[in-house]
Amino acid sequence: MTIFDVSLALKRGMLTYPGDPAFSIEHRFSITNGDGFNLSLLSLTTHAGTHVDAPAHYIDGGATIDSMTLNIMIGPGVIIDMRGRSVIDRRALEESALTDETRVFFKTDNSLKIREPAFRDDYTYIADSGAELLIERNVKLVGIDYLSVDKIDDEDAPVHKLLLSSGVLIVEGLDLLNVPAGPCRISCPPLLLLI
Ligand SMILES: [Zn+2]
Repeated sequence: MTIFDVSLALKRGMLTYPGDPAFSIEHRFSITNGDGFNLSLLSLTTHAGTHVDAPAHYIDGGATIDSMTLNIMIGPGVIIDMRGRSVIDRRALEESALTDETRVFFKTDNSLKIREPAFRDDYTYIADSGAELLIERNVKLVGIDYLSVDKIDDEDAPVHKLLLSSGVLIVEGLDLLNVPAGPCRISCPPLLLLI
C-alpha cells in the first residue's frame, strides 16, 4: 500500500487565501545561538495550508472542529479526476467516476497551482448544483486541491454554507499532484483546536 501525504508544507512565503495573514515561523530558541534546544514560534491562521473547515467557519454558533467525529475523517474514500474542468457542477459529477463513497476528494488542475506562492483566482471550484448533488448522494467529506470550494468572487460562499449546514465537512488545500485517482483510504484528522 502506498501512502501519500496530501498536505501542503507550512513554510514562509506559502500560498494563502487573499486577505489571510501570512504564515510565519520564528526560531525563538536555537542551539546554534547558545540555547540548550531548538524551539520555534508559529503564527498562522486556521485556514493555513491543508485544513478541515468546521461548520463554525461559516455558520455562527455552528459546530467547532473539536466536536467533529473522527469517523468522518478517517475511512474509505475516492479521488475523482476532475482535471480539465473549471467548475465542478452537477453535470460534471454525473459524468465523473463518482461512486457511493462518503469521502470524496477532487483532483483538479489546481494541483498544478497549489504549490505556487501566488494566489490564482482561476482555480476550479464547486458550483451550487455540484454541492447539492454531493448532499443528495450522502457524501460526508468533500476535499479539493485549492484554498476554497467556492468561486473566488462569491462572497456569500453558498457552497460552504450548503455543505456545512448539511453536515458535510470540507477539506481544502489538498496537494494531489502525485496521487492517482480512484478508490483509496482517507485520513485527515485535524488538530484538536479549541477556539
Ligand atoms: Zn473553506
